[in-house]
Amino acid sequence: MTLSIAKAIYLFLAIGWYIVRIPHERRSRRTPISRSARGGKERILLCISFTGLGILPFAYVAFGFPRFATYAFQPSLAWAGAAASAAALLLFYLTHRSLGRNWSVSLDVRESHKLVTDGVYTYVRHPMYSAFWLWAIAQALLLPNWIAGPAGLVGFGTLYLFRVSEEEKLMNEAFGHEYADYIKRTGRIIPRANRPRAPR
Ligand code: SAH
Repeated sequence: MTLSIAKAIYLFLAIGWYIVRIPHERRSRRTPISRSARGGKERILLCISFTGLGILPFAYVAFGFPRFATYAFQPSLAWAGAAASAAALLLFYLTHRSLGRNWSVSLDVRESHKLVTDGVYTYVRHPMYSAFWLWAIAQALLLPNWIAGPAGLVGFGTLYLFRVSEEEKLMNEAFGHEYADYIKRTGRIIPRANRPRAPR
């Protein structure tokens, strides 16, 4: 593993994610929205996340910027980053496939929106966010730069912290009891095993 390969893996992850997403973006433009929690705050959060996961690491990969924050490349960390990248890409593919026409870049409920609770959504209710966390971890492991590396954790972390409860509120308004039951049997980003409780 060399620094150039680690940088190429970051690019492969970012491009792979975008390719997985393209058909969903096209379809979502054609599917009318019935309820939404979009707004200025959501737009700012999307910009922060895009800066952390995309703009800053790209500036480092393409131009070595910011040079003063660079540290020595460690192949073992980069190998772990490669594994996290592969897991993230697989999870992006599976989550997009399961969500199908219910996917949105922001917080929307579409006409004839269905609550997806199967596939990768069986044990986790935000597996696409799990995939973004894996991306952020991969980026930190692949890029030996104190700014570009952790930028994804900070950028996506900010979006996640401020968005996830808003999203759950929206889903609760749209699906009521069905979503409340779903919350009880799932973890947010880490799978929850559905073991029946032992009687006391
Ligand atoms: N938070 C989810 C989905 C991200 S895409 C995840 O991490 O996998 C964001 C859109 O997905 C939101 O507009 C919301 O309406 C929709 N959504 C979130 N969870 C959903 C589910 N279980 N079924 C259907 N749509 C869902």
